[in-house]
Amino acid sequence: MQKPFMRIPYTGPLPPPIIIPRNANTPTGAIHALSNFFTAPKPAHLPNGHGTVLLTGAGISVASGLADYRGTAGTYTLNKTYRPIYYNEFLSSHEARKRYWARSFLGWTNLNKARPNSAHHAVRDLGELGFVSSVITQNVDSFHPIAHPDLPTLELHGYLRSLVCVNCGHGYPRREFQQKLSKLNPAWASFLAEMLEVGALDTENPDERREKGLKTNPDGDVDLPDAPYSTFRYPACPVCLEDPPLLADGTRTLVEIDNDGAWSSTSTAGVLKPAVIMFGESIPSDVKSAAEKAIDDAGRILVIGSSLATYSAWRLVKRAKERGMPIGVLNLGGARGEESFFQDIGAGNDGSLGVRCSENADKILPQLIENLRSMHRGWEGG
Ligand SMILES: [Zn+2]
Repeated sequence: MQKPFMRIPYTGPLPPPIIIPRNANTPTGAIHALSNFFTAPKPAHLPNGHGTVLLTGAGISVASGLADYRGTAGTYTLNKTYRPIYYNEFLSSHEARKRYWARSFLGWTNLNKARPNSAHHAVRDLGELGFVSSVITQNVDSFHPIAHPDLPTLELHGYLRSLVCVNCGHGYPRREFQQKLSKLNPAWASFLAEMLEVGALDTENPDERREKGLKTNPDGDVDLPDAPYSTFRYPACPVCLEDPPLLADGTRTLVEIDNDGAWSSTSTAGVLKPAVIMFGESIPSDVKSAAEKAIDDAGRILVIGSSLATYSAWRLVKRAKERGMPIGVLNLGGARGEESFFQDIGAGNDGSLGVRCSENADKILPQLIENLRSMHRGWEGG
């Protein structure tokens, strides 16, 4: 039986990174090893394996002002009590949804304002140089499609820029939803305006932001201890409101709103959710197949800014390993199961057979591009 491809956070300890090759322990060494990785000949046993598939995680967005889930020790760093909402909880609990949308309401302004960083632009350049077959990202911040709209990109865990109705499947832009939340929650809207006023959302420095009382998580929400979440209101799906859908047994659902248009707890449908794969939610089978195809169509894989803590991402690297693809990992700190990815690499590897470095992607990748361009000029000149 096939295991479900589920988004589950892994909270176990991570091994310290073992740098491969050994001289990749400095930025210069890492750039050389990565250059060798990208320019190595296509593995002979992979007839279709042209190019490298990139698998990215929260670490690549840190330089855009979004915090990583984990620090270098593999622990949750933002807030020890932070726990992401699970899909079943979101579906079954009005209270949980109020809390989710309140936090999302505060976090959205910051996320919407944030922009791709030099690492995303380096991914675009790697694509233009012909080294990338496709990009798989675990991030829901839309930075990859913004930075390189022409490079095939699969958003494994969906995206925050849209909402989807869990009952009728209609989609809505998050930006407009934000305005509706603002109208339904004037006190929260004033609080948000105040936070923007004091600049708590302006700084990209997590310490300064914390001092001003705000924490933004990678899923674009903000945590406020003791906030009155139960007062928060959110709208119903307009399509379900107009025409409540039928259940599988043929009975009609009920969709009711209050005088202002907020979803009423007497409703049995019309629930909107972010178009992300929540924790505990299965990845749709078409996305799962597309991710596997992206692995199978590539000759090598480079993980950027991910500790592979989610099973769905770790499994893709395991699949690449089973196909005999060279693996690269560029991530600050350990990655789940990384020892098994590199254990069969013999001495004399210069990065062509595998590379493991613990550096900042936004610093290393632009320099890698420079190096690859100068190598290219060298080939043309020679
Ligand atoms: Zn609907």
